[in-house]
Amino acid sequence: MGKTDKGEHPLMFDDYVVQQVDPQWLQERVKPKRHIGLTPELCILCRACEDVCPWECIYMMSPNIVKDADSPSLMTLASQSHAVFIIDDNECTRCAICVERCPSDALWLGRVDG
Ligand code: SF4
Ligand code: SF4
Repeated sequence: MGKTDKGEHPLMFDDYVVQQVDPQWLQERVKPKRHIGLTPELCILCRACEDVCPWECIYMMSPNIVKDADSPSLMTLASQSHAVFIIDDNECTRCAICVERCPSDALWLGRVDG
């Protein structure tokens, strides 16, 4: 979840419904053992990652889309954030173009354990 100290924040969309992913489904599917990570303290909410993604599968959304989450810590984090980053895992190819484009090194390519 992105944060910035710049004062002005871009408009965040909230026309998105977040659903919890079935852990069993996650374990059974075959996907690259890589993932895109975000260090929120470094994000300046510039939206460059959204603009550059060839598959249009990374979005900055309003924290208001996080509702009724089972995790109290997730709800607290959302209430303290200016944006929630969503990556459509079915579409993301882990090409890392967004990582290279990010001007503040907030995005990174990680490896899934196991
Ligand atoms: S790794 Fe590639 S496909 Fe995935 S969100 Fe970034 S730019 Fe889009
Ligand atoms: S490109 Fe980097 S700094 Fe800009 S919104 Fe995306 S993660 Fe944040």
